[in-house]
Amino acid sequence: MMSKMRFAVLLALALALGTALGVGLAELAPEATELAPVEASEEWLLMLVNRDHPIAEDYVVGELVELRGGQSVDRRIYPNLQAMFDAARSDGLELIVGSGFRTREKQQSLMDQKIADYCAEGYGDDEAVALAEAWVALPGTSEHEIGICADINAEGSSTSEEVYAWLAENAWQYGFILRYPEDKTDITGVIYEPWHYRYVGRDAAEEIWRSGLCLEEYLADRTA
Ligand SMILES: [Zn+2]
Repeated sequence: MMSKMRFAVLLALALALGTALGVGLAELAPEATELAPVEASEEWLLMLVNRDHPIAEDYVVGELVELRGGQSVDRRIYPNLQAMFDAARSDGLELIVGSGFRTREKQQSLMDQKIADYCAEGYGDDEAVALAEAWVALPGTSEHEIGICADINAEGSSTSEEVYAWLAENAWQYGFILRYPEDKTDITGVIYEPWHYRYVGRDAAEEIWRSGLCLEEYLADRTA
């Protein structure tokens, strides 16, 4: 009973925090509307980042656009993120970027917190680490650390189900893919995350959406 109640309290806190951080993409700082031209080298578009493919030590994070509320994303994905939010809003949805770019330190602190949570629930150290790693990417292996993805959540009158369903149907048109599909967890090694959208560009997003492949499978097919 106690832990159920604690969960409800935590959930309420998380929701309140999410609202406080709420990013109205339409309310970006003025300087954010000046967009950089698309770069000639687009290697980053299809860069694979996962447990087996950590971010290269010499990877330089692209210029960030800070969204109102404190979240940031790589400037190169911003125009399409904005267009996607505009389209969702014109379909009557209310949504926010709950998490964009994260520093390595932030990713580490999320991991530490998750492990501590499981330990507090009575799991042993090894178990707690294993459980935490199913939820939180190891520092150095999260797409959030390069700022080319966004966790997108519902707010206001919209429900998560409505927002996730809209994204699943439409995000590809703006170059975003559902990065961790429900039926690909054995390949991605990550739980189903209906909120996490990765930018890969319009062409790849459409191919991935139509094929039903996850990014790992799509890239393996391309190089085969
Ligand atoms: Zn995410």
